[in-house]
Amino acid sequence: MGAEDLIDLVSIGVVLVGDDGIIRSINSRGQRLLKVTKEEVLGKRVDMLPLRTPLYKVLSENCREMPQELAVNGSLLLVRSTEVVLENGVSAELVEFRDVTEEKRERRQREEFVAMMAHDLKSPLTVMMGYIQAMKGEMLGKVDQSLQSCLEELDRNSYRLLGMIDDVLDAYRLEVGLVSVNQEFSDLQAVLASCCRDLAREAEIQGIQFSSVIKPDIPAVRVDRKQIIRVFSNLVGNAIKFTPRKGSVSLTAERRGETVAVTVADTGIGIPEADLHRVFNKYYRASSARGYKGTGLGLAISKAIVEAHRGTIEVESREGTGSRFTVILPAE
Ligand code: ADP
Repeated sequence: MGAEDLIDLVSIGVVLVGDDGIIRSINSRGQRLLKVTKEEVLGKRVDMLPLRTPLYKVLSENCREMPQELAVNGSLLLVRSTEVVLENGVSAELVEFRDVTEEKRERRQREEFVAMMAHDLKSPLTVMMGYIQAMKGEMLGKVDQSLQSCLEELDRNSYRLLGMIDDVLDAYRLEVGLVSVNQEFSDLQAVLASCCRDLAREAEIQGIQFSSVIKPDIPAVRVDRKQIIRVFSNLVGNAIKFTPRKGSVSLTAERRGETVAVTVADTGIGIPEADLHRVFNKYYRASSARGYKGTGLGLAISKAIVEAHRGTIEVESREGTGSRFTVILPAE
């Protein structure tokens, strides 16, 4: 059996395009998924194909760096391409694609189920939190001094649990495109300063040196105050969480042309290079995060919020040395 026959048997669609842009080969599955026949397309140049045809759509997309999901003929195809070198030393593009419509539908159903559960968990938790508050305020009677620290712990942990449930709900909102931001003019300086005040306390408890430099000349920015606080609480919270005692964490905000750049840096455990490109994915936790509590949702949610503000978020990190997250927000 020759290589061509073998490729014909695989269950994904495969197209080979030469470096001159000419379609050299397409397997059976590829023909079925894109509703074309070999005879119609072999020897044709990609840029001469009629626009809007599924084949043109799949071949014209740049899927080298990252696989792309494309809606084609009412199905969802996951397309990726790789550069290959043929026997004669000529390079070509190998484009592979598979139908992920059903997979995606099932994933959506799973997400919906988890979101529903998370939503239902909130009701009993809120009732419990109400009683904790009532006990703390001694509305139900005097609370013995020996129980005060227990109450504090119950209070702190119930807020943590609520935060985790909200993250799961937000992850679902993200998936179905429900994250919306309500942008108003906000004094970013004041927003960041209040955020830093709360986090400085947390850093102190964890034995970490925290410093913040918020330059006075940062321009006005339209932000959703509540959401932006979540982003920086999450970034600084992570920095504190992943930095051992005696380490340091800093937040710097400065003007960069027509943008504001906010950098959160730490001297913590860092992120292995192989994990770096995935840390913004939902539920992803780097291998170095084993043993630290978390859901793997904070960065995915933060990225969605920053992008909804037309901003960007980037990470640089070295394992064992520390990490640096930079958020760029456009000024008005
Ligand atoms: P979580 O903190 O709940 O695990 P995040 O989405 O906030 O989830 O972060 C995803 C992963 O990225 C973390 O599990 C960790 O592996 C890595 N990470 C994020 N911030 C840092 C940091 N400052 N230092 C080291 N690793 C980090």
